[in-house]
Amino acid sequence: MKHFRLILVFTLFLVPGSMRSAQGANERDSSFILLVVPESDTTMTSSAVYRLSASTNPGRRVTINGKSYKVYPSGAFAGLLGLSVGENRFVVTSAGSAADTISKSFLVIRSKPLETTSRDTLAIEDPLMEPSLDLWLNEGDELRVQFKGTPGCTASFLDGLPMRELSPSENGGLKGVYQGIHKILATDTLNNQSIALRLEDSTGRAVTRQTESRVSFKPREFPMVAVTKADRPALDFGPGEDRLGGAKLSFINPRVRLAITGKVGERYRVALSKNQEAWIKEDQVDILSAGTFPPHTQTGNITVSGDEKFDYITVNMGEKLPYSSDQELEPTRINVDIYGAVSNTNWIVQHNTVREIKNLYYTQVEKDVFRVTIELKHKQVWGYELGYVGNNLFVKIRRQPDRLKVKALTIALDAGHGGPNNGALGSTGSREKDVTFSTVMHLKRLLEKKGARVVLTRSDDTYPLNSERLKTVLASGADILISIHSNSVAVTSNPEESKGVSTYYKYICYRPLSQELLKSVVKTGLTPFANVGSFNFTLNSPTELPNALVELAFISNPEDEMKLMNDEFRKEIAEKIVDGIEDFLDYCDD
Ligand SMILES: [Zn+2]
Repeated sequence: MKHFRLILVFTLFLVPGSMRSAQGANERDSSFILLVVPESDTTMTSSAVYRLSASTNPGRRVTINGKSYKVYPSGAFAGLLGLSVGENRFVVTSAGSAADTISKSFLVIRSKPLETTSRDTLAIEDPLMEPSLDLWLNEGDELRVQFKGTPGCTASFLDGLPMRELSPSENGGLKGVYQGIHKILATDTLNNQSIALRLEDSTGRAVTRQTESRVSFKPREFPMVAVTKADRPALDFGPGEDRLGGAKLSFINPRVRLAITGKVGERYRVALSKNQEAWIKEDQVDILSAGTFPPHTQTGNITVSGDEKFDYITVNMGEKLPYSSDQELEPTRINVDIYGAVSNTNWIVQHNTVREIKNLYYTQVEKDVFRVTIELKHKQVWGYELGYVGNNLFVKIRRQPDRLKVKALTIALDAGHGGPNNGALGSTGSREKDVTFSTVMHLKRLLEKKGARVVLTRSDDTYPLNSERLKTVLASGADILISIHSNSVAVTSNPEESKGVSTYYKYICYRPLSQELLKSVVKTGLTPFANVGSFNFTLNSPTELPNALVELAFISNPEDEMKLMNDEFRKEIAEKIVDGIEDFLDYCDD
């Protein structure tokens, strides 16, 4: 019994607050070295540096390959390891007051940078080969071909189209990188073929390769007509990708018709108008049979009306066309662009049941882009939904709440990660999912005490997908959404350098909420890291309600981690978030 009690006290001492760490009590009882990043004993990277996040028993001395590291009161130690090309063996030692030095070693292997192909062999190599994805190209598109091979040769692609060798100075000293471009003509055809590459040396010896990617020239088949499917198809601005996916232009309804004019990898290019393009994932559309008319319609009457809860705008249309929206501040406006639509709108019928809409008008901004501009009475946009009823586009405008008090509102809270998804880990093994959940529980109690109705996207240690969380929020009719996460640096950054709180929004009209939250949370003493806009995060993506993401602090930073592991501090952050919501409501009331 005595032994049991001792372990318990020890654990509480090491991990303040109510949270358990990933490290078990038994291991904590004796000397340990916990390596969080790198995650495994052997790590491969192409980077010249690698992050270290680790911990040992508090009060011990740590060295790595003989160099001393600062050990924080939590036992955390962290830094950025420099890497040579090849194998880097690191030995961590942790020494206590007695002669009980323990050690742990791990390996980080930095891959060699690309080297110039030897002149002794005639070869076309795999790295740098373009196109790397399958392509469907239209008239006027460029087929861009690149490969790396023996320098100083003559390179060509397709049926003898010339390629040029880049000068090493354009290419970090690397020789033998060849590039060629072919602009697709109306008469070009190529049906799902790999591209033939050829390299010939001065003696006339030649080597050929085929790209793994397959290319089609389809000027005669474009535009193809597609129709959207799936839950919430997204139009991206470009074919780019990052950790959060490509930058989003618009979320649209199913059954919307799109003109397809190309494909890169798994994404179709969409011609929105004469001058504007977007991209959509292939699994979000069905291609209709050849001969289907491309999307295009004239607009009819516009009706503006209201019921007890919302204002509505209905644009009569002949078919479902793609749309996007943006917002302007001062004066407050929502612009809805409908692509492929030409005005034949001769009536804008405005009923006096409208309460939030001040003015509504349209502009034909391009010959095939019809823009509806909605001016609001209040400076804050409280949300709007866009979609179709039949072939008519509707905009449902949420009005400013009558009482700008927390007790009059429904507030949705999202605790990031959960269940098998731990989120980021701190140096002591603390888990982001526990920090977010605990903070959200404090927030819930504080908001309910003030009389608010609170909706949670998760109420236990489970992991609903972000798309499911969003559905929960939208179905609840919540007035405000706040998502809680904690930040972490990448494996190539120094965890001791980035710290503090940051808030995020996607749409400019919801920036004020994120700014008020940031202003308030820094009063806890956390460093202001940044206010980040255009953030491509699912729970920042609804236009339906004001929303913000709060990244409480950097769990990857040992000092921030200690704060996040302190339950009193989490409660204090929650109090400041509540204050921030109230400051936002005051801002709206001005
Ligand atoms: Zn997170």
